[in-house]
Amino acid sequence: MSNSDFGLIGLAVMGQNLVLNVESRGFQVSVYNRTTSVTEEFVAEHPDKKIVGTKTLEEFVQSLATPRKVMIMVKAGGPVDAVIESLIPLLDKDDIIIDGGNSLYTDTERRDAWCKEHDLRFIGAGVSGGEEGARKGPSIMPGGPPSTWEVMKPIFESIAAKVDGVPCVTHIGPGGAGHFVKMVHNGIEYGDMQLICEAYNIFKAAGFSNDELANIFADWNAGDLESFLIEITANIFKQKDPETGKDIVDLIVDKAGQKGTGRWTVMGAVEQAVPLSTIASSVEARILSSIRDQRLAASKVLTGPSNTGFQLGDLSKEELVTMVRDALYASKIVSYAQGLDLISKVGKEKEWGLDLGAIARIWRGGCIIRAKFLNRITEAYEGDQQPTNLMLAPFFTGVLTDAQQNWRKVVALACLNGIPVPSFAGSLAYYDSYRAERLPANLLQAQRDFFGAHTYERLDKPEGEFFHTSDWPELI
Ligand code: NAP
Repeated sequence: MSNSDFGLIGLAVMGQNLVLNVESRGFQVSVYNRTTSVTEEFVAEHPDKKIVGTKTLEEFVQSLATPRKVMIMVKAGGPVDAVIESLIPLLDKDDIIIDGGNSLYTDTERRDAWCKEHDLRFIGAGVSGGEEGARKGPSIMPGGPPSTWEVMKPIFESIAAKVDGVPCVTHIGPGGAGHFVKMVHNGIEYGDMQLICEAYNIFKAAGFSNDELANIFADWNAGDLESFLIEITANIFKQKDPETGKDIVDLIVDKAGQKGTGRWTVMGAVEQAVPLSTIASSVEARILSSIRDQRLAASKVLTGPSNTGFQLGDLSKEELVTMVRDALYASKIVSYAQGLDLISKVGKEKEWGLDLGAIARIWRGGCIIRAKFLNRITEAYEGDQQPTNLMLAPFFTGVLTDAQQNWRKVVALACLNGIPVPSFAGSLAYYDSYRAERLPANLLQAQRDFFGAHTYERLDKPEGEFFHTSDWPELI
């Protein structure tokens, strides 16, 4: 029975749905899960499908047509290594292992080299879109050699989401490129979600009802902000709790979880010296939300304006909605500018030959950050003249110019009323810093020279000449 087109190891939520997706495109799929009962139940639930359940890895490997295509969809980290280690002695030269989980890209590079030592081909593929994406069509970000991509292309293209008939998958680049881009994608997702939450927080403090919020987000979803996350947010506000009849959103504890890809993105940005304020503040916002006990205690000690309510004064509700929409749109552009900057910098350093326009194109469908404005990002990177920063692409410069007054007003209003808006404010600070002809780093350089003789350049001398002041005034 060595004729399955594709094999998948790891039948949790993502694995099961990917198998159903692959099978639905006409491929026969063999499956294996460490806990055999999971395999048995899954196969029994789908008796009419071309799914071959296997109880041992040997049986699994033997059931696959060569070159074998084995996708691993297990918990990221050690489990991926454990599965590869067990597979290596069972596979033959040129068989392909695909890690479809959220692996750290440096782990992917290590595994790529490890598989090469054993004459095996390895693909590190980011798969986005959660359970629904996996079942109906995810956005897939595969990294690995182009020749291996060519072998996998028919399966990947058939299972990926389609936008305007174009599959949301492309060969990202060699080695860890796919998982790196998926990691930053997840960081951008953190930013998008936090920005929506900051808009919500302002509206709640201004006294908007959940019904009003459902309408606002539905309206936004009909315009430039159209996106999966805006759409689900509108729907969340309509959901009642069956037990109490109350709006479910009001009953959910304000403690956010995270699995690590946002944190990895921030760590990667720090290592590469790329400013990533929107995503970094979004990761921190989740951390601050999670220390709820401390916040509850501090709320009784630390003073400030009540952030549970403020008066609109002369401002109408409609005006506030427009202002917050502009702040959200502008901050979102900054977040993507920073994320793409990180991708671009690492891509250049690693010589991955990344195509930012193509990356934005495959994010248009299947994934959590899918959004109408990704078309604009693709357009921005299509020409010969690549912008050094997304904010400098004419379309986005125009949006930022139009939105900025409202953006400033929203950040000021929030600050005056004690409403935390770390990602709106962090994005605005980046915008203002990036466009500043002069920053106060002259004073910073003086401080460094004062205490550490670190030297400085002078405006009135040629660039690259360094000076030291040897007689800074003595401390008394
Ligand atoms: P998961 O909860 O991350 O992992 C559970 C699976 O891993 C089970 O099949 C489990 O087998 C297997 N496993 C754990 N340790 C193992 C080991 N040492 N050896 C062999 N198998 C082991 O599953 P998931 O949520 O479906 O996610 C799979 C991957 O996709 C992860 O990397 C995740 O980060 C990524 N991802 C998830 C989502 C999502 O929405 N859930 C979205 C995108 C990407 P047993 O049944 O035997 O325990």
